Amino acid sequence: MTKTLFERIIDREISADILYEDERVLAFRDINPQAPVHVLVIPKQPLAQVEHMTPTDSPLVGHLFWVATEVARQLGLTGGYRLVINNGVDAGQTVYHLHVHLLGGRVLGWPPG
Ligand code: 5GP
Repeated sequence: MTKTLFERIIDREISADILYEDERVLAFRDINPQAPVHVLVIPKQPLAQVEHMTPTDSPLVGHLFWVATEVARQLGLTGGYRLVINNGVDAGQTVYHLHVHLLGGRVLGWPPG
């Protein structure tokens, strides 16, 4: 099986600016930030997209969100932030390894594009 780009970051084959790591999750800065703060939070266990999750994955997906809030606290995003999961082609998903985008550091428009 070919590794996803994000598995290669987990395995340190591709460098990234890592902000948080534990046994289940890695958080690192996005290479092409869409806001002053743009962090990706990923599970170490590969799951291609959120629509593939089963009830067994619920604790892991919940942990992803908790880590995102913890990173937001560490980065001082007291004014708010947005957590986004792009699921599939229409949503613009480009990397098929589940990831939560943490976006902040500026006022974010709504609706998104
Ligand atoms: P998606 O479009 O799948 O929701 O988000 C994938 C994200 O991965 C994009 O925001 C893109 O900028 C980011 N990305 C793609 N390649 C790399 C990389 O090599 N390193 C890092 N840190 N981020 C990447």
